[in-house]
Amino acid sequence: MPPDAPLLEVADLKVHFPIYRGVIAKQVGAVKAVDGVSFTVNPGETLGLVGESGCGKSTTGLAVLRMLDITAGRVVFDGTDITRHDRAAMRPFRRRIQMIYQDPFGSLDPRMSVAALIAEPMIVHKLAANAAERAERARELLEMVGLRADMASRYIHEFSGGQRQRIGIARALAMKPDLLICDEPVSALDVSIQAQIVNLFQEIQAKFGLTYLFVAHDLAVVRHISDRIAVMYLGRIVEIADRDTLYRAPLHPYTQALMAAVPIPDPEIEATRPQITVQGEVPSALNPPPGCRFHPRCPRAVARCKTEEPQLREATSGQSVACHLV
Ligand code: SF4
Repeated sequence: MPPDAPLLEVADLKVHFPIYRGVIAKQVGAVKAVDGVSFTVNPGETLGLVGESGCGKSTTGLAVLRMLDITAGRVVFDGTDITRHDRAAMRPFRRRIQMIYQDPFGSLDPRMSVAALIAEPMIVHKLAANAAERAERARELLEMVGLRADMASRYIHEFSGGQRQRIGIARALAMKPDLLICDEPVSALDVSIQAQIVNLFQEIQAKFGLTYLFVAHDLAVVRHISDRIAVMYLGRIVEIADRDTLYRAPLHPYTQALMAAVPIPDPEIEATRPQITVQGEVPSALNPPPGCRFHPRCPRAVARCKTEEPQLREATSGQSVACHLV
């Protein structure tokens, strides 16, 4: 792979869930959860993926990990097209791409000790020579994520939410991954704990040179951790830019509305940035509006927006937007 090549490339990704009805299970439609999403993530970079609930950001993460069938488009990881890889072909990539979930409790077996939970992926992927090496590595990883090594003999129900997330991170690190897909990893935690876990993500990124796809709805969290941010709306990316540009000068009306809801500590920026509010709910992905999907809620919509879908294109250097008026 060339040295400046992205670690992850997603091109025109579509994930549609068919809807079947009747005794012969005839397909009557499809939920277009992800409908033509393209982005790249460079080695060592954090790309934040934001948007309201149901916009397709988590589905995008699951599709990259190939935990969902891809309807169309391409996912290329470290130079290999993994879009059509079956389970066996995905095996080495399953080690290199790890998922951090919102609630690690649901993904960790409560009958296993923490040591066994962390050692399990080392057995599956043959990452340690013997049980003693696995136990030693589990203790090291626990300390690395801010827990005590002697906690290894405890069970997951004995830990708080923040500690569980630390254990989930230790388990992911046991696989020596390159890419972490973090799906709302702090949204279930108390605000005071969120900052600690976000800092932990940053520490381990610096230590291991990890690359993150960071999916979240909380713009303050995403701003803190991301290098670049992609904003999703109803299955598509409407704007993508580096973090500071996106917060200082968002161009898409939807991004402007999202940002308007987040207080900025700089009074100069606060006074000059556009104040936009949107009405109503996100429409159904089963039947997205024609033209610009945002047009029923957009305060700037013009006639063309109802019929013609805007494409994502570069508006300023490094800032791409899908809006007819930009
Ligand atoms: Fe609003 Fe039209 Fe731009 Fe869509 S294309 S965001 S409806 S102005």
